[in-house]
Amino acid sequence: MRADVVSIFPDYLRPLELSLPGKAQQKGLLDLRVHDLRQWTHDRHRTVDDTPYGGGAGMVMRPEPWGEALDALEVEGATVVVPTPSGRPFTQAMARELAGRDRLVVLCGRYEGIDARVLEHAAARTELLEVSLGDYVLNGGEVAALALLEAVVRLLPGFMGNPASLVEESHEDGLLEYPVYTKPAAWRGLEVPAVLLSGDHGAIAAWRAAQSRRRTAERRPDLLTATTAPGELLVRPAV
Ligand code: SAM
Repeated sequence: MRADVVSIFPDYLRPLELSLPGKAQQKGLLDLRVHDLRQWTHDRHRTVDDTPYGGGAGMVMRPEPWGEALDALEVEGATVVVPTPSGRPFTQAMARELAGRDRLVVLCGRYEGIDARVLEHAAARTELLEVSLGDYVLNGGEVAALALLEAVVRLLPGFMGNPASLVEESHEDGLLEYPVYTKPAAWRGLEVPAVLLSGDHGAIAAWRAAQSRRRTAERRPDLLTATTAPGELLVRPAV
């Protein structure tokens, strides 16, 4: 997969060089390219923002540098991902869908966001997804881009040494994961549930499934009723 990220703070994306995403790049599974939006400005101050039409607080990102970025990156055929609090909530299902794309281009907004025409323009050129990390407001799209790319990249075929470890994770089957334990079997007076030491694989699987359902019902009852049909994930399909 190739992933381009455009930001006015390219250094923010540095953590993607570390740990497993870094290894994915070394292995050739991920071709990550981070771009400074200001390279597509032409004034002395490398301006990327201006006051909002209609008034109000804050600044809005001007469309011209973004337009030039989309041209230079030749986004046709890529999935353009725009982190925004008004996007569709980012989910594991969405991460899985995005992991199947050949190319992502992530546009990191700042200030009060990006001039809406940039998104309209991008959607007319290629597939566009506006995605929210959650119901809160970050200062910029970079943290959202980091989270999103990490969730997507770990699903790329060949990324995980043991792909089975992906299957049983929270949200893969719509439920939260059961509690997990390791050695020692007793620690500070707390015991590992006996069934996990029994060697009875059927009983262990049944215990885990029951724990998973119980945890989900207690903590995230909304997940038990949620349904997302395939193809529902993307806001604006390719035209
Ligand atoms: N004025 C915007 C609003 O109320 O929707 C918030 C702008 S926020 C200060 C600046 C940037 O941070 C956004 O353009 C977006 O890129 C990013 N951002 C903030 N919260 C986010 C969230 N929950 N999910 C994804 N991106 C977010």
